[in-house]
Amino acid sequence: NIFQMSSNENFSSANSSNRPTVLEHTRNIGIAAHIDAGKTTCTERVLFYSGVVHKIGEVHEGGATTDWMEQERERGITITSAAISCGWTTSEGPFASIPHRINIIDTPGHVDFTAEVERSLRVLDGAVGVFTSVEGVQPQSETVWRQMDKYNVPRLGFINKMDRMGSNFLAAVESMRDKLGANAHPLFLAIGAEENFRGLVDLVKMVAYIYDDTDQSGVRFTVEDIPSDLADQASEYREALLEAVSDFDDDIANKYLEGEPISEEEFKLGIRKATLSLKFIGVIPGSAFKNKGVQMLMDAVVDYLPSPLDLPPMKGEDSDEQSVEVSPDDSAKVAGLAFKLMSDPYVGKLVFYRIYQGTLKKGSSLYNPRTRKSERVSRLMVMKANDREDIDVAYSGDICALIGVKDVVTGDTLADKDLDLRLEPPSFPEPVISMSIEPATKADQERMGIGLQRLAEEDPTFGLSTNEETGQTIISGMGELHLEIIRDRLFREFKVDANAGKPQIAYRETMLKPSEGNGKFIRQSGGRGQYGHAMIKMEPLEKGKGVELENKIVGGSIPKEFIKPTFDGIKEAALSGVVAGYPVIDFKITLYDGSFHDVDSSEMAFKMAGIFAFKDAMKNATPILLEPIMKVEVSTPEEYQGELMGDLNRRRGQIQGIDSRGNACIIQAFVPLENMFGYSTDMRSLSSGRADYSMTPSHFEQVPQSLVQTIVETSSREPART
Ligand code: GDP
Repeated sequence: NIFQMSSNENFSSANSSNRPTVLEHTRNIGIAAHIDAGKTTCTERVLFYSGVVHKIGEVHEGGATTDWMEQERERGITITSAAISCGWTTSEGPFASIPHRINIIDTPGHVDFTAEVERSLRVLDGAVGVFTSVEGVQPQSETVWRQMDKYNVPRLGFINKMDRMGSNFLAAVESMRDKLGANAHPLFLAIGAEENFRGLVDLVKMVAYIYDDTDQSGVRFTVEDIPSDLADQASEYREALLEAVSDFDDDIANKYLEGEPISEEEFKLGIRKATLSLKFIGVIPGSAFKNKGVQMLMDAVVDYLPSPLDLPPMKGEDSDEQSVEVSPDDSAKVAGLAFKLMSDPYVGKLVFYRIYQGTLKKGSSLYNPRTRKSERVSRLMVMKANDREDIDVAYSGDICALIGVKDVVTGDTLADKDLDLRLEPPSFPEPVISMSIEPATKADQERMGIGLQRLAEEDPTFGLSTNEETGQTIISGMGELHLEIIRDRLFREFKVDANAGKPQIAYRETMLKPSEGNGKFIRQSGGRGQYGHAMIKMEPLEKGKGVELENKIVGGSIPKEFIKPTFDGIKEAALSGVVAGYPVIDFKITLYDGSFHDVDSSEMAFKMAGIFAFKDAMKNATPILLEPIMKVEVSTPEEYQGELMGDLNRRRGQIQGIDSRGNACIIQAFVPLENMFGYSTDMRSLSSGRADYSMTPSHFEQVPQSLVQTIVETSSREPART
């Protein structure tokens, strides 16, 4: 179990005395959902209710509540912000009456923008998965859910749209169990469904909350006895919940077995423990649109999702690529991650920043190990529901926006200059497609360069490079749509009309076998010579693991200052593989030996030694070519199913499954991207225009040997990403 419930001890020592909200009462969360499941509406409601806390008096005094729609509309604008902050105080349970700060980090639902999802997952501590009570788990929510598994994010489920025709809370919970393999348990039951959805049964307290029909804003509800027709079901599900929580909490397990009473507070702390274990998901029914269930969800966020203190330390490395850990502590030197850049018409470039340790003061400088430059933070801000607020100080665990830091890209570490630290950036998927791009008029060349550069800074899955043979500018990304949007933004934001070439596949290379490499760069003919020598082990890593570099030099066979140049050489060599010159991915290099010369050794010589060692190792490692495989989902009336499946087979597709949804038939398949060009036209003509499809990059796979030669000969290589 990697999560620990924070003890009071580390809690007090990590906090500086003047912070507005102590770490233990901060929640950095994301809301993840399939498009249209209601993420935006939920977020708006959360902001509304958190703002309304201060206004409840007015409501009781008979103040108008009808104008809240208006205010909400204004708030709607700021929801597009990368992170917004609001307050919430629960009235009961372990954190009763303690003000909490909830930071909501934007998590896009659209899979085309996986990079956005990845980078937000890196900086959030917990999440709410929003599903609909009619459709249950849908494909995109599944994708995001799996990414959250990868980043070990504790979660709650919110089953939205209980007011809709055909809604069924328990069936939706079941679909979380089936499709996501989640150990999902209702924390509440729904009272009524569709237009009769009236409230929720609290399975911890065993009471019912019935919303007041006359209050359209859902602020007022009454606490009542559980309706008699739900009493048995409520007992049954409470029992199931207790049993599930017993697996994570021995005290509760014992009391449960002995039939002893369990207090509300104990029960809630048990649910918290279970949630933090990542092996339990509490689920809440509601209707964001009809303003029901949102307050219960917010209570659950406070009660069950982690604070920054509950998290395992954040990993990073120093300049020798040795691993370093950071934990929230206000008195430590400041370190954090820039996770999103946005341009703002009023203040210019906003850098959204998560502080992992230390305290950041307005006016201080942050060092960027990538650029080796320090920049001054001229202003610090937090985004509030309907406003933004200038602040003077931000503390560890906080999410804030920096102004004044210019030379920065998504995923950069910004830290105190004395800290030798680079935090682990989010891992971004490799681009699958590339194309050449040129401005319609020569005069636009420079502006296009600036525009593309700016867009590449914001979007880490968008790559930019130059083909050295032809001098053309090459852009690469996650699909045709992605690159289309880039072209469109170039036009709208930078007024550059650009023509794009034919899309090309972004192949990659890796190796099948471990091997060793010996790289020597020695020039000793008159004057000062050159001497660099590195010995490495190379091994393939699992798909999607990226590149790992480990330094195992002992006894100074390569002096400390030449380790990084050696790794730089290895990284440079890996940009262009030996099969067809594509970037090499998913491997580990261990630098274990080498030698040096007192006078002739230099950074440059060791960089060359790194390059030679890498190339040498690749030769004997059975290098292979990889191609992007797409996850394709075709939705069609049944009568075209056979034709469409035959067509997918001809495209080297592997059919994964056939499902029915309503009266449509859903075919799922993995198909090499190479064979997906022109698919929409063929699919339409095979189905008389009635089928539809979606496609997302899934993974890379080895190109069959019979096709490698053609690819090597015909592909105009996409040079390495910069
Ligand atoms: P997002 O794409 O996940 O951000 O979803 P939105 O919040 O934009 O909601 C998509 C649509 O569903 C909008 O038309 C909402 O008004 C509607 N919607 C959201 N929540 C509910 C709900 O609880 N009940 C009903 N009936 N509609 C809802």
